[in-house]
Amino acid sequence: MADKLLEAKPILERFRLDGRVALVTGGGQGIGRAFAHALGEAGAAVAVVDMAAASAEAVAAELERKGIEALPVVADVTRAEQVQRMVDTVMKRWGRLTIGVNNAGIAGWFDSETMPEAEWDKMMAVNLKGVFLCAQAEARVMLSAGYGKIINTASMSAHIANTPQNQAAYNTSKAGVLHMTRSLAAEWAPRGVRVNSISPGYTRTQLVNEFIEKPIGKEKLPHWLARTPMNCLGEVTDLQGAVVYLASEVSDFMTGHDMIIDGGYCVW
Ligand code: NAD
Repeated sequence: MADKLLEAKPILERFRLDGRVALVTGGGQGIGRAFAHALGEAGAAVAVVDMAAASAEAVAAELERKGIEALPVVADVTRAEQVQRMVDTVMKRWGRLTIGVNNAGIAGWFDSETMPEAEWDKMMAVNLKGVFLCAQAEARVMLSAGYGKIINTASMSAHIANTPQNQAAYNTSKAGVLHMTRSLAAEWAPRGVRVNSISPGYTRTQLVNEFIEKPIGKEKLPHWLARTPMNCLGEVTDLQGAVVYLASEVSDFMTGHDMIIDGGYCVW
């Protein structure tokens, strides 16, 4: 019998994404921007999707300056027709889609007893329905190709109730992403499409940086650090290895899994 181990390509080559095509929603800034760079550096062509056109264009231009094939795509993930157009645009440009990173999300703090219904609906529309609509449109082309990697951005808030701020709706939406990931993984595994998620802890994006400079942020930061065994915020670069791992062939036997990257927050 063939020895799979001796026949396999060297391990770092198996992390490469040459010839693969990826899209990243919410790719215009923060974590999505870091995911887009990571996938591109690993060899993939990358569609940078965002509802903010200028951000999508700026990140696509950053990638092109690194010699990465990139395409800015404007889409609101809460709108099924725009999500379908996003996938159609990628297919028109490259003829395939191998990696779908469903990362666009919004956060918000509300006391539940006074949270307006419209805010609840908005949170669920972006964080939950948006991830589903993207996964659905991506899977249609991946299932017919017999292979695909879907990676959803959940959060450590899918696992714990954050404190001291109140964010029941956000936490609920992210717990939904986690179970949607498992459910879609089970449904599509027999046809070659893997679905996994990444759950970041508090991560230093530009918005988080700006926030912790304000009085309310200065008040919250010590609470967050005290609950994090590593006693620091994560950097977006701390998440890049996970997205390349989940996008590449090295993780082909993994599906329905969540990678928590939180400096140990969920351990306590
Ligand atoms: P961010 O606000 O910096 O970036 C989000 C991007 O998504 C923006 O470019 C925004 O324009 C885009 N976006 C928002 N709504 C959209 C929509 N309807 N359609 C298309 N694009 C839309 O956020 P971030 O901190 O980079 O977070 C990215 C993801 O990571 C989110 O799902 C968030 O919940 C999750 N997350 C973030 C942290 C953190 O500490 N930063 C921690 C855990 C999870």
